Parts: sequence; C-alpha cells; structure tokens
Amino acid sequence: MAEAIAVIANSVAKKKQGGDENRLDQFIELLQQYTRMDFSRKAPLGSKGDKLDAIAAGLNTLGEEMEHHIQKLRESEERFRMLVENVKDYAIFRIDTGGRIITWNKGGERIKKYTATEILGKHISIFYTEEDIRNGVPEKNLKIAKEKGKYETEGWRVRKNGAKFWANIVYTALYDNKGNLNGYAKITRDMSERKKAEEKLKSSQSFLNSVIENIPNMIFVKDAKELRFVRLNKAGEELLGYSREELLGKNDYDFFPKEEADFFTRKDKETLKNKELLHIPEEFIETKTRGKRILETKKIPLLNEQGKPLYLLGISNDITDRKKTEAELKQKSEEITRSNAELEQFAYLASHDLQEPLRTVTSYVQLLKNRYKDQLDKDANEFIDFAVSGSNRMRNLINSLLQYSRANRVKAFENVDCNELLDEVLENMNSIIQETGTTFYYKNLPVVHGDRVLLSELFQNLFSNSIKFRNGATPEINISCKEEKNHYLFSVRDNGIGIDPKYSGKIFEIFQRLHTVDKYPGTGIGLAICRKIVERHGGKIWIESEAGNGSTFHFTISKT
Ligand code: ADP
Repeated sequence: MAEAIAVIANSVAKKKQGGDENRLDQFIELLQQYTRMDFSRKAPLGSKGDKLDAIAAGLNTLGEEMEHHIQKLRESEERFRMLVENVKDYAIFRIDTGGRIITWNKGGERIKKYTATEILGKHISIFYTEEDIRNGVPEKNLKIAKEKGKYETEGWRVRKNGAKFWANIVYTALYDNKGNLNGYAKITRDMSERKKAEEKLKSSQSFLNSVIENIPNMIFVKDAKELRFVRLNKAGEELLGYSREELLGKNDYDFFPKEEADFFTRKDKETLKNKELLHIPEEFIETKTRGKRILETKKIPLLNEQGKPLYLLGISNDITDRKKTEAELKQKSEEITRSNAELEQFAYLASHDLQEPLRTVTSYVQLLKNRYKDQLDKDANEFIDFAVSGSNRMRNLINSLLQYSRANRVKAFENVDCNELLDEVLENMNSIIQETGTTFYYKNLPVVHGDRVLLSELFQNLFSNSIKFRNGATPEINISCKEEKNHYLFSVRDNGIGIDPKYSGKIFEIFQRLHTVDKYPGTGIGLAICRKIVERHGGKIWIESEAGNGSTFHFTISKT
C-alpha cells in the first residue's frame, strides 16, 4: 500500500508537464494497477468528466484499502505487544537512546522482580553490579549495540532484592524510517539454572576424574573404531611403565608383542560385538619397566543412545603377586597332601606290622601270668599285671591307628539303610549295652549313599564314647536325622558328662583327650576317625555340649 501511494505521488509529480488528458489516463492506469477496482466495466471513459469520476472512485477505494491496512497493522502490533508483554521466560523491553526503560513485560517482572510502575523511566544500570557500573559497562554495552546493530553478552545481573543471577543479554539497536537510532530492544534470559547445571556437571566431571585418577586399578579407554587409547589413568601409567603422552592416540601394536596385541584386539572386538562386559580372568602383558605381568581384566563397551559402541572401557588388576602366592600355596598344599598320604601309609604299615610281634608279646606275657602267678613274689605279680595291661593298651592303640588309616580307603559307595545299619551296630555292641543298661532311641532314619563299613565304625565310635563318658545315670542315646537340601543332618545325643565348649574343636584332633587314661580309658583317636569318615562322605562333624549336661554330636552326609 505504501508503495502504491509513493508510485502514484511520484507519477503525479513527474507528469506535471504532460497534457491533462494524457495525465488523467496514466493516473487511471496506475489506480487500476494498485487498487482492486475494475475500471474496464466503465470503459470506454470517453469524456474528461468520466475520467475524473473514475479517478475519484479509485482514490476512494485506495483510501478504504489504506484504512483497512492500517487497522490490520494496529491489530498485529497489539498482538505482538501482548505477546511480548506476556513472555515469562525472557525480560523483553525497550530502552531509549539514553538507556532509560520505556516498556516492560511479565518476564521482566519475573526475572528482575520489578513491576512496570517501578521500573519504567529508570536507567538500565539498575540491573548491573556496582563493579560493572563503576566500570561503565552499561554504557559500553549500548555503545557496542549501536555500532554493531546487535550485541549479545553474558554476565552477572542484579534483581530488585539485590540477588545476583547469571544472565544472557541481547541488545538490538532500533532505527526509525530515516535510519536514525531511536532506542534499543533488550532481551534478558536468566541463566542461573543453566549455570548451576553447568557447574554441577563440571564438579561431577572433576569428581569422576579424580576417582578415575586415584583408583588403584588400571583404567583405560579406547575408541571403538580404531582401538586407539584415548584415556589412561595414573595406575595404568605405573603398571605399564608408559606415560599418557606416549600411549594416547596409539594402539596395542605400538607397544606390546604381536601375540599379546592380537589377543587384546581379539578380546576388544569380541566385547564391542557382543555389547556386553567381558571378564578375562588372566592375561599376560609385557610392560615397559616391570617385565611380564599377569592381569585380570574386565572390558566394557560404552554405547551411545542408539546402542552403537563408541568406546571400550577396560579395568585391569595386576594379579602377578597373587598368582605367585597362589602357585606357592598350591605347591605347598600338594606337598602336604603327599606327605600326609605317606604318613598315613606309614601308620597303616607300622600298625599292621606291629600287630604280629605285639600278639607274640601279649600271648607270652599272658602265658607268664597264667603259669607263674603266685610262684613268684608279690612284686613280680605286679610287674606281670603291668605288662599285660600295657600290651592291651598297645593293642587298642594299634587297632585304632589301623582303623584311622583305613578310613582313607576308597571303596565304591552303596545305598545304606541307616535303620538296618544301627540294628547291626547295636548287635555288635550287645555286651557293653547289656552291661551298662544303655537305651537307644531311633526311628525313620534315611537310606544314605556311602561306605557301609565306615558308617558303622562312625556310629560305633560315637556310641562307645557316649557310654564311656556317662555320668551316674543310665546312658540314653537318641539318634535323629533331618533331611536338608544337599545333605542329611544326623544328631547323636547322650546324657553323659558333656564337655566344656572351649574344647569343641580340639577333641576331633588325633590323640587329643580331655581325661587321663585312669579315669576314662582311650587312645584319643576315636573322634579323629569319625571326622575322617564324615569328610569322606562330603560332610562335617561338630559337637554341641555343656559340661555336665550331655553332648550332641551333629554330622552331615552329602546326598551326592
Ligand atoms: P577317646 O574316646 O579315646 O578319648 P576320642 O577321640 O573318641 O578319644 O574322644 C576325644 C575326647 O573327646 C575324649 O577324650 C573325651 O574327652 C571327649 N568326648 C568324646 N565323646 C564324648 C562324649 N560323648 N561325652 C563327653 N566327652 C566326650
């Protein structure tokens, strides 16, 4: 519309010299061109009067259209003003050339905390820190905006209550039609949240960095594409002997022997392909300064949001010393097992071979006693009695030792019905049971998988002890069993003298006894044999007792 009026005005001015008729025609033509009027309907415009009528109508239309456009412009300006006024996240306002505020919006109120009435007419330096004001920053900013047309900056600004906030500010210079500066638009955004988030990120990054740097394990990161090192921590530098400067940007082939580099690369690729953690329990690495080391490594692919691997993270532990100690321990334990086996073999042979001469000694001493008792003097009788009891004790000892050695034998396991087994055991112990009036309680015992002879020795030893270590009362022995997930748990409870719990561990060791032979005869091998038999059946044995209050021996027999 503005263009139409300019053209028409121009043509009227130019054509002042031309003939009237001609000028009227041209005028009509222009009006036709720039208004929505259709003059052709009135054609031909023969007389000057017709032409003037047409021009009047044209000008009228032009006027109406102008009014219509001006109205639209006003509406759109109003919409724009309301829009700006209601923007909450930005302070958007105009300032005059001197820096005084001439409009205000909701965002300004929200961010800077001033109402329109409070702030209109004030100078923008009200938003600046004292230091900035001293340094003339508000004026400088306006000057730059004036020179460049637009100026964006960030800095601390002050709210009405004096609180400072980090702001992003854009100044735009505004010009009138003639190109003269008539003020500025200023848009301020409160960046405190972003600044806080940035600072949080920075501090969490520096936290993460310090964790990575101070962790005693080697941590490295390689890019997924070329498997070049992009990060190595301090522990990694110490372990490999290579500095970060040497290592970063290079790959395994630049440092390690080919077979090692091949291995590392293969594992890297496997991790990246499977996109999951890979645990390498043992790998060898040739370091720069410390020779070959053994590492335990975990490799983890680092994926982007689309699940594509970008990096490979590695965490390694130097297990060289641990491996060395383990190997030494293994060797030692093998030596101990071997020497134990030899000892047991020796004990078996010795006790076996001793039986024969002992039998001779026992029978001849017995013979001496039978034949010459009362023919010699009192001392000699006593000596003979000592010799007889000594040789009996020795026989018991040798038998126990033999039993102990035999507990090691490896015989195929069979199904053993414990009810039947106990019936047999009690049959064997009949005389001592009768002698002492011992009562046994057991029922519904399970069928277990084991060595029948050894299991019967186990029960026999426990029962003999319960009878032997009885107190004044008639011995009562209760045998029960509970089926658990992987084993059967047996309990043998008596009403005997019990033991002080502090000896609970000691009594299962060979030759360990809590009493003298005069008080309770024995060799101190019985429970050691029990332990061996239980262990042979994949179980454990222990005692629950209190001095004077009976004992309960618990043991487990593995189901497999
Ligand atoms: P021994 O019976 O030949 O002494 P054991 O190895 O069978 O050897 O037992 C070791 C010790 O454990 C016994 O000397 C005794 O002190 C204690 N002991 C074993 N069974 C019982 C029990 N049922 N009641 C109290 N003490 C016991």
